[in-house]
Parts: sequence; structure tokens; C-alpha cells
Amino acid sequence: MSLIARIKRFLGLEAEAKREEPEKEKSEPVGASKEEVEKVAEENAKPRIGYIHLSGCTGDAMSLTENYDILAELLTNMVDIVYGQTLVDLWEMPEMDLALVEGSVCLQDEHSLHELKELREKAKLVCAFGSCAATGCFTRYSRGGQQAQPSHESFVPIADLIDVDLAIPGCPPSPEIIAKAVVALINNDMEYLQPMLDLAGYTEACGCDLQTKVVNQGLCTGCGTCAMACQTRALDMTNGRPELNSDRCIKCGICYVQCPRSWWPEEQIKKELGL
Ligand code: SF4
Ligand code: SF4
Repeated sequence: MSLIARIKRFLGLEAEAKREEPEKEKSEPVGASKEEVEKVAEENAKPRIGYIHLSGCTGDAMSLTENYDILAELLTNMVDIVYGQTLVDLWEMPEMDLALVEGSVCLQDEHSLHELKELREKAKLVCAFGSCAATGCFTRYSRGGQQAQPSHESFVPIADLIDVDLAIPGCPPSPEIIAKAVVALINNDMEYLQPMLDLAGYTEACGCDLQTKVVNQGLCTGCGTCAMACQTRALDMTNGRPELNSDRCIKCGICYVQCPRSWWPEEQIKKELGL
């Protein structure tokens, strides 16, 4: 049995994961259904939001606070920040409508594992906030042996342990996308949120996804968006197609997420074209 499977059993999450399986077999979208998200928006005009910091660098929270133009309005009139070790002086986790989780989870850190379990129980929606939480990002390269916790060697995206409803990858995500996602949640704008709901299942990110999921599928238009989006310059455009230098890739997934051929509203397009 894998370490993740053992930890899930230890936390009592295994049974829950099994209960979810039949729904996935019916090929329903990963995470919260449209109805569940609508219910949250309906019942909570002013959503209660928590920020949970696991193995992350706080860059995602910094990006959130860079929404200077709308931050005061957002925090005063649109949401209640009810939990967050760097934001709120409260040690006991309350019930929340949305938990923004930053950082991957260390399988050798019992405190993080219990916090993750508790937030899944207390939050109606869980958002993998930033690439470490969503895809593991550069913590995918962790292998322990460093002081002060040499035994801390296994770091995984949070969706490996709990059900995640939506993901906002980015290292960090832009201030705009964070603000727009929160506002879309408040406004119940499912059209805007749908890609983020779908991304909750995108945990094994790599620059090579462009090759396998876009170029190999005959979808690449050579627009270069992926290369521009990569913050480590791991991508070059060669002969009109992205070429990966895997030594530079930190597995954030942003190149694939930003690629305009990775997701588009197929149903909406068909509807508008009368197909
Ligand atoms: S190629 Fe760049 S953007 Fe893509 S996953 Fe690697 S580091 Fe992230
Ligand atoms: S962003 Fe997508 S479509 Fe554009 S060059 Fe990169 S892989 Fe091709």
C-alpha cells in the first residue's frame, strides 16, 4: 500500500474517496457540481473565506493582496475572511464557504495532514490556490535530507489526499485571476469558473503536456502564449512549436493552463454556431 493510501486510511479519508467513485464513473465533472456551487452562492451573499497555508511560500497570498484597486471593496463589502494564520487572529478553524489552500502537503507532517482533513470537513468548497497546492510545482522535486526536518521528503498536491473543488494554478496566480475567481463565485458565474472546476483534476503538470496534449493532438497554432507564460524560461518556440528544456521546468502547469487550445467552451461555441 502506498504512503498516500496509508495516510488516507489513517485520516479516515479512504471511505469518503470510495463513496465518490461511482459519481466519477458517470463522468461528471471533477469536484463541486454546478448545483453545489450555485447553492453556496445563493445561501451566502457574503461568503466566508479561509486561507490555509501548507507547504507554500506565501507568494499566492501576496498576489491576492496586490489587488490594490478592489481589495478594500472586496474585503469590506463582498467577503468575510474568517481564517488565515497570517490574516486572522484565530486558532480554531471555523466553518467556511471557501477555503483557499496554498502550498502542497508534506506527507511526513502530521499537523498539515490533520489541517487538511479538518478544512475539507469545514469548507463547502476547497480551492487549490497556486501551483504548489494544485500541481505540486517545484515541491515535486523535494526528496528530504535538509535541516531542520530531514525526514520531510514527500510533498504532493492537495487533491492527492482530499477532494478539491476548483484550482487556480500559477506560481503565483495573477492578482487579476484571483479577484475574478472570487467575484465569479459571489456572482455565481459558472461560465467563468468552469475551467477552474475542470483544473481540479490537473495535478500531474509538466511542460511536456504541451507536446502530448496540444501538439500531438494537432491543436497547436504556434501562438507562443505558453513560452511567454513560463516564468522559468523553460520553453522556446522552435519551428513554430514549443520546445521544452526540462531542466528548467518546475512543473507549475501554467504553460498548459494558459494555452488557448487547452480549454475552450465547446458547448457554448456549438450553441452559438447552432450545431
Ligand atoms: S514549462 Fe514552464 S510554465 Fe510549463 S510547467 Fe514547466 S515551468 Fe511551468
Ligand atoms: S500556447 Fe498552445 S497553441 Fe500556443 S504555441 Fe503554445 S502549445 Fe501551441
